[in-house]
Amino acid sequence: MASAGERPPSGAADPWDWWRGTDELWRWGARVREIWLDDLADDATRHATRERRIAELLRHARQHSAFYREHHRDAGAGGELQACPPVTRAQLMARFDDWVTDPQLRRRDLEAFVRDPSRIAEPYLGRYSVWTSSGTTGVPGIYVQDPDALAIYAALLTTRFEFGPMLPDPWQLPGMPARMALIAATGGHFAGVVWWQRQCRLHPVLAGGTRVFSILQPLDTLVAGLNEWQPVFVASYPTMLSLLAREQCEGRLRIRPRSLWSGGEALTAVDRASIADGFGCPVLEDYGASECMQIAFGCRHGRLHLNDDWVVLEPVDEHGRPVPADRPSVTVLLTNLANRVQPVIRYDLGDSVTIDPSPCPCGQRRPSVRVQGRRDDVLVLDGIAGSSVRLLPLAIETVIEEETGVHRFQLIQTARDELCLRVDAPGARRRAIDGRRAARALARFLKAQGAAPVTVKVDDRPPEIDRASGKLRRVRALRAAASRD
Ligand SMILES: [Zn+2]
Repeated sequence: MASAGERPPSGAADPWDWWRGTDELWRWGARVREIWLDDLADDATRHATRERRIAELLRHARQHSAFYREHHRDAGAGGELQACPPVTRAQLMARFDDWVTDPQLRRRDLEAFVRDPSRIAEPYLGRYSVWTSSGTTGVPGIYVQDPDALAIYAALLTTRFEFGPMLPDPWQLPGMPARMALIAATGGHFAGVVWWQRQCRLHPVLAGGTRVFSILQPLDTLVAGLNEWQPVFVASYPTMLSLLAREQCEGRLRIRPRSLWSGGEALTAVDRASIADGFGCPVLEDYGASECMQIAFGCRHGRLHLNDDWVVLEPVDEHGRPVPADRPSVTVLLTNLANRVQPVIRYDLGDSVTIDPSPCPCGQRRPSVRVQGRRDDVLVLDGIAGSSVRLLPLAIETVIEEETGVHRFQLIQTARDELCLRVDAPGARRRAIDGRRAARALARFLKAQGAAPVTVKVDDRPPEIDRASGKLRRVRALRAAASRD
């Protein structure tokens, strides 16, 4: 399972990639200019730009997507976003071929494409990026991004974040790219890894300075790989960065990054402080989703500012009514103004967010957002060698999903050496079969990670929804174990 571990992403192998890389640089340049102009504009101009983009997206979707034409039937012909009914992933995936605006895109073909790991980051139909996401809804999503959307994400990434600490070290050899490490779920077409691999394909200068590490490999193997690579920039999930900060503090990990990138899960203030202290460098935070890579960007004061020129985020309650600022929402409706090939309009993202309208000391005028509950627990188990073994929820979820195809499940730690697994499948027989397969995959993974023998009990009851958040938390650790260690 560690085979998908450390490896350099491939550089441009296909001569067309050179052309695509040049095309992307051109598109990126145009979008960077647009973003700078928007940042300098007054509020009225910004508002007008955003309204124009909303109207254009609605017009495009209704013209080219049979799904939206039907779904927005009663919404009137205007550009009023709030008049449009929300959508869910299940609804969109069920009507995939009608949802997309390019008739050449077919769900069946895309499913075959994403089943093949050798095609990660390959341009689909020569121009699109494709990635997948499972999430907790039980419906895997397939996301197609057009070249303009990709250029807009790249432009937001390079203009909005404060990359100061990442600038080249004056002692570094001129022209040598800074060494970067991405620690992520690899081996599948997941957004983070597709994005990085694509950048390396199109811009080969990046490939030589980038290593991708799998979250599935044992922690000591990962630590050894990072010690050898000595990255100055590390990107991963906050749960992984916290584990690594601990390794660094205890002297096993010995790297000197100049900045860290945290995304994919919510970063708590406590984790941010312990990660930054552990490595002695700032943590850049990112809030994105498979449906839109750049929803918000972190500033040096620990706030996440919305990219509200390209994204509309509407916090709503359980009845879909708007939730005022300063109050946590039940879910949030996302509209992505950047991507035309697969319009995301008032999409129920499932995150609970709180809009903070108060001014930020960083001077950014864009509102900031806090994201709650967007993560599962790190499991702490006894190790075979005596010390504890810590396992990332994303690693556990990837193993179960990939080995069994089950997306809706729950793993509850009931004792230090006992786990209870519940799967959501129709019928007791199916639940028992899926549960046993998932338990076997999990046991193999735990053994490979150096955990002492653990009993995995398959429970016939369905996964339990968290009462406070109304969401499914797929990995729940034993509180006593986590705090004791
Ligand atoms: Zn700020």
